[in-house]
Amino acid sequence: MKAFPTSARATLSCPRPAQRPTQAMRRTLALGLSGALLMAGASGCALGGGSARAGASAGVPRGPGGLPLPSTRAERTGHLETTSHAEVLGFLDSLVAMGAPLAISDLATSAEGRRVPLVVASRPRVSTPAEARALGRPIVYVQANIHAGEVEGKEAVLALLRDWSFGRRPNVLDSLVVLVVPIYNADGNEKLAPQARNRGAQNGPAQIGERPNGMGLDLNRDYIKAEAPESRGALAAFTAWQPDLFMDLHTTNGSYHGYALTYSPSLHPAAPLAPFTADTLLPEIRRRMKSRHDFAVFPYGNFTGADGREGLTATEKSGWWTYEHKQRFGTNYFGLRGGISILSEAYSHDPFARRVASTYAFVQEVLSYAAEQPAAIRRRVEQGTRAATLGTGSRASVAIRARFHSRPDTQPVLVERLERVADSTLQTEPGVPRGIRRTGVYAEQRMPVVDRFEAAESTTPAPHGYVFAAEWTKAADLLRAHGVRVDILPTAVTATVQVFEVDSVSMAARPFQGHREATVTGRWLERSRTIPAGSFHVPLGSSLDLLAVLLLEPRSDDGLLTWNHFDAALGKGREAPVARLLAPLR
Ligand SMILES: [Zn+2]
Repeated sequence: MKAFPTSARATLSCPRPAQRPTQAMRRTLALGLSGALLMAGASGCALGGGSARAGASAGVPRGPGGLPLPSTRAERTGHLETTSHAEVLGFLDSLVAMGAPLAISDLATSAEGRRVPLVVASRPRVSTPAEARALGRPIVYVQANIHAGEVEGKEAVLALLRDWSFGRRPNVLDSLVVLVVPIYNADGNEKLAPQARNRGAQNGPAQIGERPNGMGLDLNRDYIKAEAPESRGALAAFTAWQPDLFMDLHTTNGSYHGYALTYSPSLHPAAPLAPFTADTLLPEIRRRMKSRHDFAVFPYGNFTGADGREGLTATEKSGWWTYEHKQRFGTNYFGLRGGISILSEAYSHDPFARRVASTYAFVQEVLSYAAEQPAAIRRRVEQGTRAATLGTGSRASVAIRARFHSRPDTQPVLVERLERVADSTLQTEPGVPRGIRRTGVYAEQRMPVVDRFEAAESTTPAPHGYVFAAEWTKAADLLRAHGVRVDILPTAVTATVQVFEVDSVSMAARPFQGHREATVTGRWLERSRTIPAGSFHVPLGSSLDLLAVLLLEPRSDDGLLTWNHFDAALGKGREAPVARLLAPLR
């Protein structure tokens, strides 16, 4: 596949005149960046050159036949408002009507009955996984709006779909199959409320949706228990399309740093391609984001102070820490299926327009990287899926619990100084706590950067898979929803198994997402057992082995047992329901 010049150059759009600099932009100008470039970056114009929009001769950007191309609500309102669910559907329909190479289907129907569209974008146009695979290209999956107040991903991917579809130069659609879910949390998007209520630490827009889905669930904690229809739809799409690369687009909630966007690979220490993603792919994207877009980006994290918490106005920070490694988070989860997984977190204290621009550029750069070297990406993902295939007789050790890495690097991190103002009730900027003022003064401080995890406990999985009794139908259904093969024993068999005898059971003191998470201690004991007809058998031997182990092992810190599937069977001295098979079933 032919490489082409940075498609960011080819596809950024220029829908309207550069805006008046906002307070935050002026602050950044004080840092010495070029005003023209900065404002252009915010509206995405300086880097244009080949897109239908940037190439339009006058005023309204036009597509085939001179028809005006659709714009997002953010573009139409000067980034004062965000696109509604109905407008997302309308925008996509307009692109299709104008001849865009898109196939649109439904990923899911939300709890409140809204369509969650899945867009398949590629030249030539494809609409099924078989057609996509026949092209032999990397398949990438980009998801926006999982937390519906975090709206710039939705705006950015809509603009990208338009600009890729009608750009005048070859772009990622000529080298990849791009799946886009622009409005994953459709219900949350429509629960508009003031930003101060729905996203306390965000700099606009004024009205935004809310974080939970229509069932009140945080979809980015639902990837294992998969209680939401959106999660079921996403898991089915992963199984059907087998994407090579996954991106999940968010906005930060925390620290005042100097980066337009922060990112993370899968943080689970067992994710096969996390080291490649963290140490090869993302550093290259970081260089391109700086050199091509003048956006400083960095691994995701938040500051801590000396006491382990962050004082906003403290001038000395003691460390930079990432979030959790658990597979309930989409990016961590996807990496365990063997693919490349990337979290994008636009900086919540940047103005909305700049967040759209940085997210647009980041998605563009990651996809361009894949489009430039499709065969290498496919080979890399084949390595990842091989590593996730534990196979019959495997004695590989798998990390089932994790802790922050004990020997983090020390690196310079950009810190913004914040000051107290005399009036402690004064709000100086949307998203900034009362009585506090941003200074626009940034300093690099060297500190430990804790951006990865290590195994806290590893185990050797069942060499011939797992078995559990016929009564656990919900567990079997959930495994199947993940794409894991679950067989039913046609006849009773006697087999050598390991059973997990429970020493202690603890339930989380506080409910989380409607659950009290369960943890057990105990030991594995070898037994000969007759397994009744109708029992469930999970054989190993596919690229979902690693995931199956993390779902089924009783000591996994984010598996079926964690989410209360086996509560009824747990107690001191009892056997956990899932047993390991030590010999093949005959
Ligand atoms: Zn988020």
